[in-house]
Amino acid sequence: MMKNIGLFGGTFDPIHNGHLHIARAFADEIGLDSVIFLPAGDPYHKEASAGGADARARLHMAELAVADEPCFAVSDCDVVREGATYTFDTVQIFRQHFPAAQLWWLMGMDSLMQLHKWKKWQTLVRHTHIAVAAREGENLAQAPRELHGWLGEALQQGSLKLLNAPMCNVSSTEIRRRARLGESLAGLVDRRVERYIEQNHLYR
Ligand code: ATP
Repeated sequence: MMKNIGLFGGTFDPIHNGHLHIARAFADEIGLDSVIFLPAGDPYHKEASAGGADARARLHMAELAVADEPCFAVSDCDVVREGATYTFDTVQIFRQHFPAAQLWWLMGMDSLMQLHKWKKWQTLVRHTHIAVAAREGENLAQAPRELHGWLGEALQQGSLKLLNAPMCNVSSTEIRRRARLGESLAGLVDRRVERYIEQNHLYR
């Protein structure tokens, strides 16, 4: 049977329980065999964002967070590439690695609303299916006009799937804020990620 592989891109600065929760929900609802987390590289024209962790630290935290999840993996594909990294190119790379698999690009509704600005998006959506998680109150009625034609068609064909499970109310921004103030991150990030943030004085 054809394998279903989820690709979950993000800054993951740091990876948090909301990301892990939604990845499990994607895996259950779509029937994914594995989910590969893809931390973004550092912006190529400047240092890591002010106060943020660099790509190597974000990658390492993602590895710590998925260590106990047999179906989750982390790829450094977007970290080691030189220059700007586009989802279009990332998907081509995974298409070559897994020629017989069905790829699913996983994203939040906020990202979907920007899809028409992504490099070669119309080709991208022919090379990967797309699965979307929404926060409460977010829905496709808010989609920009450029996406309307594709949205209707993709939903009908099953190449776009909206997740039933809602996103939890946790964000990396909030975690960085708490870490800066020395507040506990218990229950918001994996224990090993919490320890790594503390030991390396990240986000201070
Ligand atoms: P920041 O607060 O720095 O903007 P973030 O928490 O939104 O970060 P990202 O690394 O930007 O995290 O997110 C990667 C992907 O995870 C995006 O597709 C985003 O929509 C999704 N995501 C972010 N927060 C959650 C959450 N609480 N539940 C589920 N998915 C989330």
